[in-house]
Amino acid sequence: MSQIDQLLKYQQEDEKLIKLEQEAASSEERKAYVQAKNFMTKAPEKLDQIDAKAAELERMAGRLNKAYEELAEALKDFDSLDEMVKDEGADVSFYKKSALALQEKIRSLKNEINSLTANVKAVDEEYKALKKKVIAMQRQYKESHAVYAAYKEQKKKEMAVIEDELKQLAKGIDPAIFAKYQTKRSERIFPIICEVRADRCSKCGIELSLAGKEALSSGTVVECENCHRFLYKK
Ligand SMILES: [Zn+2]
Repeated sequence: MSQIDQLLKYQQEDEKLIKLEQEAASSEERKAYVQAKNFMTKAPEKLDQIDAKAAELERMAGRLNKAYEELAEALKDFDSLDEMVKDEGADVSFYKKSALALQEKIRSLKNEINSLTANVKAVDEEYKALKKKVIAMQRQYKESHAVYAAYKEQKKKEMAVIEDELKQLAKGIDPAIFAKYQTKRSERIFPIICEVRADRCSKCGIELSLAGKEALSSGTVVECENCHRFLYKK
């Protein structure tokens, strides 16, 4: 059997293995497992983000508290306003202005407190939602890990049968050519061996060089100059 026939036979069997590999990679069993795993990996980062938000809100609460104390202090000036106006003849219009300014500060402080309360509520809800999801994902991770492990075990058995067959077939292939085949396979090139039709690679359409044509008819294993697949002629 010629080298190219051996390669074709190998590729035919290898295609079954590739199909199994693809099935395993896109299986629902793997998806559920990877989804849970990714979530669990990123959960600490999400928790850190919520922590940072909570710390920021705490700083803001401290600032608003201080602003409130300052306002309360300023309001004390008005406690004895009656006597000041009556007995000391203080200027009412000056106090009226101060009162209006204080009123404005109180209004703006109230708005900030409302907004802070809403933010605290949102962060709290975010935290609760995350906690719920972490609990659910912990369960999914545990379950899907077991399911996926069993699935992989089954696939491994199916693959082992093909791999044994491939090992036998590889014995008939020149080691240097076989190494090239494996490199192409790892680069996800498939099919690796393509038919030449009308002196052109049937996969990419590039015409063979004169040297390529000669080598092909002499039975040498030739690679497409463009897509680097092995070529054969029927
Ligand atoms: Zn090509």
